[in-house]
Order: sequence, then structure tokens, then C-alpha cells
Amino acid sequence: MLGRFQYNDIIFSGEVFDGIVYPDPVYQQLDDEYPLSSLLILPPALPSKIVCVGLNYADHAKELNMELPKNPILFLKPPSAVLAHEGLIRYPAESEQVDYEAELGIVIGKKCRHVSADSAFDYILGFTCFNDVTARDLQRADGQWTRAKSFDTFAPVGPFIVTPEELGRQNLSPGRLSVSCRVIRGQNEEVRQSSSTSEFIFGIPNLIAFISSVMTLEKGDIIATGTPPGVGALLVGDTVEIEIEGVGVLRNTVVSAE
Ligand code: MG
Repeated sequence: MLGRFQYNDIIFSGEVFDGIVYPDPVYQQLDDEYPLSSLLILPPALPSKIVCVGLNYADHAKELNMELPKNPILFLKPPSAVLAHEGLIRYPAESEQVDYEAELGIVIGKKCRHVSADSAFDYILGFTCFNDVTARDLQRADGQWTRAKSFDTFAPVGPFIVTPEELGRQNLSPGRLSVSCRVIRGQNEEVRQSSSTSEFIFGIPNLIAFISSVMTLEKGDIIATGTPPGVGALLVGDTVEIEIEGVGVLRNTVVSAE
């Protein structure tokens, strides 16, 4: 697994195995290894943009009684919204309904444009957990999605990036991963979303082909692949966990904005 970390004032990338972080050797001032617990976990990528897919689960389309889209519906979240594992989601004063959306995140490994579906995996660094946090009332009020999707802290991502090879070693395929969301409220822990990427309307290769036919994808860009059924509201004080099979658990707590 790949990640970004902070030790004192030093920010670095490295690999994680069994709770030990091995910094990239370019960071000569660092030791060869650190216990993960001694480091601050940062967002695992620094995207120039986050490209999100609006409706991409057949079971979610059914839940909403919507026809399947002919093309992926795309929108963007800004890099300023990125939040690390264990970071605090700030509930904006302007909103009265902030929702979670559990999503598989794809992290782009190298700059690309006009990628064919057949070669899409050449451009994937790996997979991560993503929470497409959304101020649903503002999304409805505005008629377009930028404000609702773009508040600072509305793009929790991580904790790490799992490469396609690492998934393969676990006998897992990115097109057949369970995706779930749990909300912990006081003593109560509830599974709110539970589906599989096998419900994708547009598979990973087709998404990369479609998005890269529109825009250049840069190394570190994140594609958020849409959310399954069961989307719902978060309250201040909730802890929300996005779990993706073989990829990890992304945990964040909601606080009120000052
Ligand atoms: Mg979404």
C-alpha cells in the first residue's frame, strides 16, 4: 500500500506493510522505517482535480427509479476539499442536510489523454476509499452541484492506495469489490450502504476512456466512481466509515464549522 505521511515537519510518501511505513528512499533525512502509529496519515494523493461520476450503480438507479444513463454524468470536486483519514468533516452552517456517499476511488498513475478502455489499467496507480460528502439541500437549491460538493473537507480519501497487483495477490478484482458505509452515532453503529462494484453501470476501463476523452488526467488525480444505494444524512458528532474490500477503511468524524 502507498501513502503520504508526516513526521514532525517532514512530509513524505512511502509504502505500508503490516503497520510499518517504509519512506521512499529519496527522503534521505528519514529513518528506514517507522511504526505507522507514530506518523500522521495524510491524503494518499495530491490531485489536480477529483472527477466524480454521478450515477454509476445499477442498484442505486433502481432505488431512485431512474433510467440508466447512456453516458457517465461527470462533475468535479476541487482539490481544496481533500481530507485525510481521521480528519474532521466540517458541517457548513449554510446546510441542513449533509450526506455521506461511499465510493471506490481510482488514483491515476501517469498523465494521460484519449486512453482506450483496453489500456486503461496502464494509467491506474491504485484504488482507495472515497467519501463524496454532499450538502444535499444546497444541491437541490442550486440546480447544479458545485457548491454542494465543494466545501472544504467534503472529499475524505484514503487511508492508503492499494495497487492492482496488491488486489490481485488477494485474489480480488476491482470490478467485484464490496463497498460499504457505516455510521457510528453515540453507542449505535449502523451499516447504511452495502453493495459491490459489480453493480457498476460503467466499468473502470470505460470510465477512464470516457473521462480522458474530455480532459487530461494528471498523476494523482482521483476518479470517484459513484455511490451505491442507501445514501443518507450525517449529524454533527457522527463518525462515518467507508470500507472497500481489500482496499481499507476510511474513517472521519463530523464537527460543526466554526
Ligand atoms: Mg457521489
